[in-house]
Amino acid sequence: MQSSRSKVILNVQGLSKNYAGVWAVRDVSFEVYESEILVLLGPSGCGKSTTLRLLAGLERPDTGEVRLREKIIVDSKMGIFTPPERRNMGMVFQAFAVWPHMTVEEHVAFPLLVRHRAKEEIFQKVRRALDFVGLGGLEKRLSTQLSGGQQQRLALARALVYEPDILLLDEPLSNLDAQLRQQMRLELKNLQRQLGATFVFVTHDQDEAMTLAHRVALMRDGVIEQIGTPDEVYENPATLFAHSFLGTTIRFEASWIEDNDGPCLQLSGRYRLRFGPDGDRTTGSPTAGQVLATVRPEDLQIVAEKRAPKDNEIEAEVQDIINLGDRYEIALKGCDADFVLQAPKRLRVKSRDRLLLAVDPLRVKIWPR
Ligand code: ADP
Repeated sequence: MQSSRSKVILNVQGLSKNYAGVWAVRDVSFEVYESEILVLLGPSGCGKSTTLRLLAGLERPDTGEVRLREKIIVDSKMGIFTPPERRNMGMVFQAFAVWPHMTVEEHVAFPLLVRHRAKEEIFQKVRRALDFVGLGGLEKRLSTQLSGGQQQRLALARALVYEPDILLLDEPLSNLDAQLRQQMRLELKNLQRQLGATFVFVTHDQDEAMTLAHRVALMRDGVIEQIGTPDEVYENPATLFAHSFLGTTIRFEASWIEDNDGPCLQLSGRYRLRFGPDGDRTTGSPTAGQVLATVRPEDLQIVAEKRAPKDNEIEAEVQDIINLGDRYEIALKGCDADFVLQAPKRLRVKSRDRLLLAVDPLRVKIWPR
């Protein structure tokens, strides 16, 4: 999907928005490819919604340029600002704005009516959009008689019916309960695939981002920290924030030292960790002294043998064992860090046991303190 053959449909350059002296979005640049789902991910207040509203034309940027299918729709320097209704973008929000007196089909027909489409075309397209989102047969229902999930499907149908160049979705699933939310994620992904539609999707939920995204733009304090496939960001995080936001991170305080075998990290308790050529993320910082070493839980292996630790092995004390039915979740404390590992039920372990853990050196990352 993001091969060199993919076509850029939306190009954003240097987009910024300031509210009363605070930069909600600062110098943000990215591209959206045709038929991809780009997820804007980040904690609350990091500027995701503002970015989406700037794309939709619901806000005017202080700086920046936006091109849709190579046509300039926003250029702050040239004073160009195309109003939302002339951008051919669809929007779906967290809360669906229901018009209580309207039926399902009237809702979906509305965007076509305001575009003065022919009656027959409206009839066909409304049916098709409703079938796509699984609401076929409910045409005559009042929208207030739909469940939460059905209302979000209706919002989707209403946004898709006029075949926008891009669909902008702002936390569209966050009002739904956990189970429905998971189901709707998969439905959305299927729908996007079938239609070949292009989505820009805002969420603060990393699982949602991992499930839906072809690419993730990870935002923090109004800037994009990293953009890439979920796997790229997970495996090769550009910053400690990116590392921590996508997936679970275990952090160890460490000293960078040299021994007879070369550079290594010494953790509390005198355990030693080696690391691979890609591990050092302290670029530009002095390489000696105090650093932060991180790994993911899946980079630690419980060693069954009882023996003294070697290089790349640490010990940790079992704090708690949670039986999840198919496996254990073991809370551990070691090298001044608290962390949780998954373990098979065949492991014989009890509270206060000391476990020997092998660390994959190629997965160790080192960050400046
Ligand atoms: P997110 O969608 O990531 O939660 P937002 O884009 O909503 O973040 O907000 C980014 C920052 O801009 C926040 O600090 C928020 O308080 C501020 N902000 C957003 N909209 C407005 C507004 N209309 N007026 C003033 N400040 C705003």
